[in-house]
Amino acid sequence: MRCLKRVAMLVVVVAAGCATIRPDATPVDLAIDNVTVIEPGSGRVLPEHSVYISGERIVAVLPARRGAAYAAAHVVDGTGKFLIPGLIDMHVHLFLPEPAPLGMNALLANGVTGIREMSSDCWAAAGAKKGCVAEYRALQTKVRSGEVPGPDLLALTSTMVMGPTRLKLPPTAPAFITPVTAEQGRELVRHLAERGTELIKTHDSIPAPAFAAMMGEANKLGTALGGHVPFAAGALGAAKLGYRSIEHARDLLYDCSRYGPDFRREEAAFAAGTPNSVRPQSLERLQRTVAQFDQILCAEMLRQLASTGVYYTPTHVTREMEARAGDAAYRADPARRYVARDRNKRWEADLQETAALPSAERGALRAFFEHGLRITGLAHGAGIPIMAGTDANDTMIVPGFSLHLELELLGRAGLSNLEVLRAATVVPARYLRRSDLGGIAAGKRADLVLLRADPLADVRNTRAIEAVLARGRLRTRQDLDALLAEAERIAARP
Ligand SMILES: [Zn+2]
Repeated sequence: MRCLKRVAMLVVVVAAGCATIRPDATPVDLAIDNVTVIEPGSGRVLPEHSVYISGERIVAVLPARRGAAYAAAHVVDGTGKFLIPGLIDMHVHLFLPEPAPLGMNALLANGVTGIREMSSDCWAAAGAKKGCVAEYRALQTKVRSGEVPGPDLLALTSTMVMGPTRLKLPPTAPAFITPVTAEQGRELVRHLAERGTELIKTHDSIPAPAFAAMMGEANKLGTALGGHVPFAAGALGAAKLGYRSIEHARDLLYDCSRYGPDFRREEAAFAAGTPNSVRPQSLERLQRTVAQFDQILCAEMLRQLASTGVYYTPTHVTREMEARAGDAAYRADPARRYVARDRNKRWEADLQETAALPSAERGALRAFFEHGLRITGLAHGAGIPIMAGTDANDTMIVPGFSLHLELELLGRAGLSNLEVLRAATVVPARYLRRSDLGGIAAGKRADLVLLRADPLADVRNTRAIEAVLARGRLRTRQDLDALLAEAERIAARP
């Protein structure tokens, strides 16, 4: 049922079946009428409700019959449909200057209305000129003004900070870029804070003194560190210093294993360039991490980790790629048509390399992936906030489409369908300290996804997208398909 409600002077035109609009009704831009509203935060499900939107904001959420107080210029019939908050992918790489529509269109068409961009700057101090923070800020402004369709870039991230054994700099670059000493760590954080991203991303190779000093300086300046936990610190050690966000299903696996301390010591020694140090072999790392899993050690570590307030973004889809690189059906993912040809080529090389590993290692990668799901379930059970993130644009991680795969994997890890929805809505909103995101209520931003089927019955129903609202702007299925068609055209260019 589609009904147009308009107020003209005191004459009220109402199509049959709609609530009668009062003459004093407040005009609003848009109504989603008679829909089942799912509020992940409270877990409340409100059947037969109407959501009224003006500009970027939700004005009211009311039982459909009581909506007569609002007169909407445009009405979307939500009968038999489900409304959830817009999805947030907390780990995305846009890799500018790649043409924005490639990633952005596919994200929006998949109901993703917000992202945390995870490498939004370059090493300008070392002479880099492309993919620097100004480009990301410019894109963010264009998205917010409506000039470029796509999810809001809710947070930007520095380029990855690595130790000097992993990143070779031109001789003219300042030494603090690859920090070793405490003073270099502090200097680097001051430099990065000035460049203005919301998160400083760390690599696991940062030496201990530099990392501890970085954390201290970041806490002082009110900026945050997250990413790959430095080997020298460990997840709990980093989180106790105030580390904000652990990325990827690796670090918690190490720290849930009796092998963890040995592994971290060897890796840290190698990263620090200690003479005669040897990096653990990949097969040994994978096998011993899983085989020496210790339930009691793990439970105690996770219990303490939960009290630090750190967030966890496991990006299981990236571990799934390693587990399934040789699987022809997996590689034939039709969503790859939205990915640029040269990127697809690089993915193919990565897939081939992984698929060509000895069978023992491929088996170990599969076990590591499955073990990661188990650890996420335990972390969630311990009260660590889990966030949905994909590492979009990494090998086989198609922007947008991959988020729905990650949601399904979070379900396999043991989160209920409601908890899975929270991981892509209310939990990221809390991480971002954005009370206007992640929910459906008066005053919240109108970032919404209209679904044809109930995601609480089957979480895969987050893919049954009928329409998306981003900052109040409605895009129907037809509009979303047009965005995808554009991405496909651009991706096919040589
Ligand atoms: Zn990443």
